[in-house]
Amino acid sequence: MSTTVLSSPRYRDYDFGPEHPFSPVRLEMLMDLLEHLDVDLDMVEPPLASTDDILTVHAEKFVRQVEAASGGTPGAAMSRYGLGTADVPIFDGMDEAARSLVGGTLHGAERIEQGEATRVLQLGGGLHHAQEKLASGFCVYNDLSVAIQHLRDAGRRVAYLDIDVHHGDGVQALHYDDPNVLTISLHESGRYLFPGTGTVHEIGKGAGEGTSLNVPLEPFTEADSYLDVFERVVPYAIENFMPEVMVVQCGADAHFSDPLADLLLDTHVYETLFDHIFDLADDHCNGRLLLTLGGGYQMDATVRIWTLLALKATGHPIPDALPDAWLANWKERLGEDLTPTLHDAPDKTFDIPRKETIYQQNQRVSKRVLELLAPLWY
Ligand SMILES: [Zn+2]
Repeated sequence: MSTTVLSSPRYRDYDFGPEHPFSPVRLEMLMDLLEHLDVDLDMVEPPLASTDDILTVHAEKFVRQVEAASGGTPGAAMSRYGLGTADVPIFDGMDEAARSLVGGTLHGAERIEQGEATRVLQLGGGLHHAQEKLASGFCVYNDLSVAIQHLRDAGRRVAYLDIDVHHGDGVQALHYDDPNVLTISLHESGRYLFPGTGTVHEIGKGAGEGTSLNVPLEPFTEADSYLDVFERVVPYAIENFMPEVMVVQCGADAHFSDPLADLLLDTHVYETLFDHIFDLADDHCNGRLLLTLGGGYQMDATVRIWTLLALKATGHPIPDALPDAWLANWKERLGEDLTPTLHDAPDKTFDIPRKETIYQQNQRVSKRVLELLAPLWY
């Protein structure tokens, strides 16, 4: 099956400055690596989303604040909308830059809806924290929700899966009462990590009760426990929900090296997760799958995980060593050594004293989630 890949140089305009973790350098490294690997991708440059597109999920007064800040005349009340904060500092052109990322994810949804593509990989976006009238957690506009809303308006039933280490709070909130959008988020527990939400008790409301699913995981969760929970919960939920399209946020910040969080996944687990995701979309949605990027703040690991995603999504073989020229160039630019292979070393182990307790707690949580939700599915 061919996969459409979306990318634009404009995505890199979404730039909060050199000190900010959500760095466009990650995308530059990624595109450069895919070029050096000499893989033939069916690459499309999507158009910018329009303001009307943004208004399908965001409040007009919020969008006007973003536009004013973007044009250099920030409103006095902008901090009430999450703008001009440490997490979401304002910059010139912010509105257009955020609309370029939304444009890609929306374009992916349109192509799937129109039958022009079955699988789409959007090499950007995944801004899952943005709310109706609030920028949050490095996210201005919620590209995922704009795309999901487009599919909903076309009458589609959508399952959203979020493997970013942070709770997908914005997407959950924007579709919380919609019975035709299932949101599933696996994340480090909000007791320890931003944004603090995502408990098992957040299950949707009104007609949407039973269509929000959260699995908060213990810090220092390792591969075996993560996969145990994923395999216990996700296929069962998708099978019951019977979606027509899957939208997946593929944040890479659950990697063990990520500086902002404490889960301990490696590239091998990500590869297994990607295989599970492709299988779920094939088995339940005739392959209809829209993938985005997301968080990921350790450049070296993040770029390798997303390269793995791009190669697997497009059916290319997975190389062992990374190209010398790419390694040399980025070692020089970043001033640090990079992992010379696409995968982490296979024998990586962690010395976690509470390993068994963590495993059991995660297992309890995943059982509890199903106890709460399964009765609402029949
Ligand atoms: Zn994240």
